[in-house]
Amino acid sequence: MKLCEHLEPILANETDYGNSIGDIIENAWTNAKLVVILKNAINVNQTNTIVSSPFVKYFEITDNHYELQKGYFCEQCKHAIASPI
Ligand SMILES: [Zn+2]
Repeated sequence: MKLCEHLEPILANETDYGNSIGDIIENAWTNAKLVVILKNAINVNQTNTIVSSPFVKYFEITDNHYELQKGYFCEQCKHAIASPI
């Protein structure tokens, strides 16, 4: 499965700047069909300047029962791109 067109530019930008994919998980969360997890932290300041879809929302998981993560979730496609915080 390929990351949706709304999140693809974020992934492309991150890999351009040397980040890489650590894992790709299908049906990772109850409401996420596809989650791409990057090895290094997403550059949020830069990413915010390239997010153009109103469906794409920034999130942070800071509940310490889970691995700390931040990223972007596409509400239309139920895809996400995540990274360590
Ligand atoms: Zn999408």
